[in-house]
Amino acid sequence: MFDKILIANRGEIALRVLRACKEMGIKTVAVHSQIDRDLKHVRLADESVCIGPNPSPKSYLNVPAIIAAMEITDSQAVHPGYGFLAENADFAERVQKSGFTFIGPDPDVIRMMGDKVEAIKAMKKAGVPTVPGSDGPLPEDEEECHAIAKRIGYPIIIKAAAGGGGRGMRVVHTEAALINSIQITQGEAKAAFGDGTVYMEKFLQNPRHVEVQILSDGQGSAIHLGDRDCSLQRRHQKVLEEAPAPGIPQEVREATYAACVKACIDIKYKGAGTFEFLYEDGRFYFIEMNTRIQVEHPVSEMVTGIDLIKEQIRVCSGLPLSIKQSDVVIRGHSFECRINAEDPKTFMPCPGLVKGFHAPGGLGVRVDSHLYNGYSVPPNYDSMIAKIITYGDTREIALNRMRNALDETIVDGIRTNIPLQQMLVRDEAFRKGGVNIHYLEKKLAE
Ligand code: ADP
Repeated sequence: MFDKILIANRGEIALRVLRACKEMGIKTVAVHSQIDRDLKHVRLADESVCIGPNPSPKSYLNVPAIIAAMEITDSQAVHPGYGFLAENADFAERVQKSGFTFIGPDPDVIRMMGDKVEAIKAMKKAGVPTVPGSDGPLPEDEEECHAIAKRIGYPIIIKAAAGGGGRGMRVVHTEAALINSIQITQGEAKAAFGDGTVYMEKFLQNPRHVEVQILSDGQGSAIHLGDRDCSLQRRHQKVLEEAPAPGIPQEVREATYAACVKACIDIKYKGAGTFEFLYEDGRFYFIEMNTRIQVEHPVSEMVTGIDLIKEQIRVCSGLPLSIKQSDVVIRGHSFECRINAEDPKTFMPCPGLVKGFHAPGGLGVRVDSHLYNGYSVPPNYDSMIAKIITYGDTREIALNRMRNALDETIVDGIRTNIPLQQMLVRDEAFRKGGVNIHYLEKKLAE
């Protein structure tokens, strides 16, 4: 097991990783930008290193500075959290070449999964169900593109192979718009990701977003930890998540889990990972894999009792998983509300001084947050300031606990999206369960 881990992230996830390390008796090194010197995990870490000025390209994305910090602190491994360098294969490779361990899968695996065309190919091979599509990059020939679209059936969606963060996608409803849309998406993909490769998929009209959490040791063992429903999204950004996804037939989910586990073994996946699916009319369709820990991982921890960060660290240190599939029992229900420093109506970020913070509590309530009274939310980074997570024996209990927890929470001094979350947990359709990915935007439009 590692002796010392450097945490290459900030905010709540840095604190989450620090807590796991402390439990495991591993020393921690926090790296931070200038403005982040007062972050909670920086104060709690054994050592800290300022790696640069506030803009993330100069600090949290500054690979030479992070490697240098590992060297001067004698760290053995780096935990990238999510965002920033978490899915950057070149960073993982630099870490390895410098003689350290990257807590995540091998660079080649990150690279393959970062190319959605390659990822879909690998998943298909492993028997994971995918969206009907072009099965590879679109050809240059316009007639061939028309033929592919016709075979799939309109509406279709053009997607960038290198896309991410909900960017590089375009829905096409008619034959007349096809070629122009392909060209625009190619141009945008080239500009945004440096790679103009695009592919085509059937555009599913009313799917839900359901994802499967896995853990894999890269040595032939992999397990799943059930699924999560993340259909409540705004601009492809998740807002509220739950585990398990409500109302999915057991045999359908079991078949999907089995395919995900097989895929992990096939690609020698190491660490924690997520298979993202669209779910429509009783069927799963793979869209992409995230090769990192995710924001919404706590809901899976709550219903399984398994610490995902600790397992991630374990397997990346070369140890086998500490649990078998038969040890994993999904019990009860969990919700997570992302609390952002933003205006609840306009969604404009609202950084600034938190004059008072009162976190909710009680049975089945967990708060993952770096906030404290007097903390100033900087304007430079993601606006998420807290995650409120609740657990209950039933979906209804967990949801009522979330309603109460949101009502108890006070963040004084800045605006947050708590009013939006309070509205959502009272929403009749959401309370019933199973709303699709368009539900939140439609409701906001009303
Ligand atoms: P990103 O990597 O940018 O997040 P994804 O492939 O995960 O891209 O897709 C993001 C979102 O776009 C999905 O959650 C879904 O809302 C929508 N989407 C993607 N592919 C399709 C599709 N084939 N049909 C309908 N919606 C889609």
